[in-house]
Amino acid sequence: MEGQDIKKRLLDFVTQRDWVRYHNPKDLTLAIFIEMAELAEHFLWKSNDSIEEYLGHEQNMNGILEEIADILIYSLNMINAIERISGKSIDVRKIIEDKILKNSKKYPVDECRKKGF
Ligand SMILES: [Mg+2]
Repeated sequence: MEGQDIKKRLLDFVTQRDWVRYHNPKDLTLAIFIEMAELAEHFLWKSNDSIEEYLGHEQNMNGILEEIADILIYSLNMINAIERISGKSIDVRKIIEDKILKNSKKYPVDECRKKGF
């Protein structure tokens, strides 16, 4: 499913429940932060080795993927809210591709490999 399709599906979900009135940039930003904290909780105080072991358990992996989904869902809800407020259409694929292009110019492969990061 393309980003635009998911965005529309989420807008329908939110509209059907009359949640649009709660979906403003400030509250959606806070919601993304809270979901990021829930994701971070999975990794808190764990070494890289113990994270690898943690990810080997299906229940843990599912919990992590669920938090990532929450972050993505709220991010797309944020785009829907910004579209509604600004009256401008936002193409999810385009903003991601534009950012990847910008990052590829900011961090050229050769330069990054030379520096070691
Ligand atoms: Mg969550």
